[in-house]
Amino acid sequence: MKDIKEIIDIRHQLHSNPGISGSEEYAHNLIVKFLSQLHPDELCTNVGGYGVAAYWKSTVKETKTIAFRADIDALPSGHRCGHDGHTAIMLRFAEMASAAERPYNLLVFFQPEEETGKGAKKIVESGILDRFNVDAVFGLHNLPGYPEGTVVLNDGTFAAASCGVIYRFKGRTTHASTPEMGINPGRAIASVIERFDALNRKDTNPDQFRQSTLICCRIGEEAFGTSAGDGEVMFTLRAFSNYVMTELMKEADAIVTDVASQWNLELEKQMREPFSATENTSGYVRQLDQILSPCFDVVNITKPFRWSEDFAEYLKVRSGAFFGIGSGLQQVELHHPDYDFPDTIIDTAANVFSKIFNNVKL
Ligand SMILES: [Zn+2]
Ligand SMILES: [Zn+2]
Repeated sequence: MKDIKEIIDIRHQLHSNPGISGSEEYAHNLIVKFLSQLHPDELCTNVGGYGVAAYWKSTVKETKTIAFRADIDALPSGHRCGHDGHTAIMLRFAEMASAAERPYNLLVFFQPEEETGKGAKKIVESGILDRFNVDAVFGLHNLPGYPEGTVVLNDGTFAAASCGVIYRFKGRTTHASTPEMGINPGRAIASVIERFDALNRKDTNPDQFRQSTLICCRIGEEAFGTSAGDGEVMFTLRAFSNYVMTELMKEADAIVTDVASQWNLELEKQMREPFSATENTSGYVRQLDQILSPCFDVVNITKPFRWSEDFAEYLKVRSGAFFGIGSGLQQVELHHPDYDFPDTIIDTAANVFSKIFNNVKL
């Protein structure tokens, strides 16, 4: 096996050449180069964009397949979510598993476009999970605020569902001296903002959590002789289960439809960056707890994270689990301009994947 320094060096190369969602060519090529040296039984390039997948048959007579996923994209501000670290972890794990006994067939895959919520859907649509008969999928995210190398499990939803919504209202402009002659959407939008506050449910049990956050609002334009004739308001909606998210979206739409008709406004709705809730398969989380607790520091949490993760798409079509790996108590939060993935947890996290692969019962 290679010195961990080589993997750390790859992490630094990725860090210095960040590819935002949809532009991960540098990472794609580097991953392909590394994996081809490990001689997988199959290597798939350009999967759902700049995704990569490598497949190794089991070394025993076993027909089941376990998949492990890493996300590889960066933010416009660089690798501030630690996906460079996730890539390095997966390469290390692939290196370990390719040289050892394999109780199952193994698929490791590298997913682009996580930050925009598009990548996982593209991977699912590419058909690789079907082609390699994947039975279960596992993945992780680094977590600042937890001690380095701590495994963070949640036997339930790990990360929230969220969706951006844009509501556009069309009324009619008129001379500013006679606003009563036109249809100005101002008070309708004010009423939507006011009524959306009642959609929030924060202090109940996690299952029921719902949140609407005002993102942007525009009414009319800078023209002082004209009463505004159109406007738009944008929110991000969030919930801890896909069921509650659907309910929240319906209630939000009902409020806006009601307000629009009350003020005689035309209404148009658009959705942006929809993420489902990352709902873990319960039995697997309990197994991970048993498998990992003797060897690693494991923390079980019950409150899901409020951010979203498109790993949710895999859990809608396969069993599996998503968990966290602590990246340090003194770390700034994810997406902070100073965030940098700690190299010290690469080996630990690769060993966590390895432990899961070798011990989980499907
Ligand atoms: Zn992120
Ligand atoms: Zn991330």
